Amino acid sequence: MRALILWFAFFATLLIPILLLVLFPPWWPIAIGVMALSHALVLWPTLRPNSQWLGPVITAFESTSNEVWLTIDDGPTDDTASLLDALDARGVKATFFVKGSLCVEHPDRIRLILARGHAVANHSQTHPSSAFWCLPPAAIARQVAECNAALTTITGQTPHLFRAPVGMKNPFVHPTLFRRNMTLVGWSVRGFDSFGDDVERVVQRIVPRAGNGSIIVMHQGRGFSVACISRVVDELKARGYSFVIPGFDRLKTNR
Ligand SMILES: [Zn+2]
Repeated sequence: MRALILWFAFFATLLIPILLLVLFPPWWPIAIGVMALSHALVLWPTLRPNSQWLGPVITAFESTSNEVWLTIDDGPTDDTASLLDALDARGVKATFFVKGSLCVEHPDRIRLILARGHAVANHSQTHPSSAFWCLPPAAIARQVAECNAALTTITGQTPHLFRAPVGMKNPFVHPTLFRRNMTLVGWSVRGFDSFGDDVERVVQRIVPRAGNGSIIVMHQGRGFSVACISRVVDELKARGYSFVIPGFDRLKTNR
């Protein structure tokens, strides 16, 4: 699918419009239409989180019981220790998708996360939220490689999972990950908890949409993050869900 889109984009952006304009000048609206379509075919899967058009994105995991996978992005921020206490108090394990630059500043926090039984994964080096979708190949590779290096130095293990900042991935992300034997992880359910500070709204967005094998994405580092994650966990536990970190062989691209 990715190759098909890119080949079409190449021809539709350059060759087809030029040929049309040269051979059939009055057909210029068609040339512009073809160009617009080619751009849309690349932009849509780039900007749309969890779109599989440019390559596989993990959006769920295999489960036969009431299990969810809690993933926490954007750390390791100052609230890491209190967040770990809150998770411990609830007997919950999670995966932390972390920023490499914060890992370099606070390697102790990564060690603490692992010592408490959680997992860590790559969420880019500097988390360029507004620019990641349009970074060129070398910059994408740097974002992935530098975070990997930071985590490898601290943990002795190279991460195999990557989550793109705000879930946006352009056509250069999958080849970068493929070369490093890495997998792109999206989510099943999100609560937009990186905006606003209304805990109950986040709970209402996440809890009714969660199901067996759901990947839940939340964020740390905001004033209400620990309270918000705790509330969501409590609500899901009250509905009978347990929290697991699924093995690689359980990850899948559809719910
Ligand atoms: Zn993020």
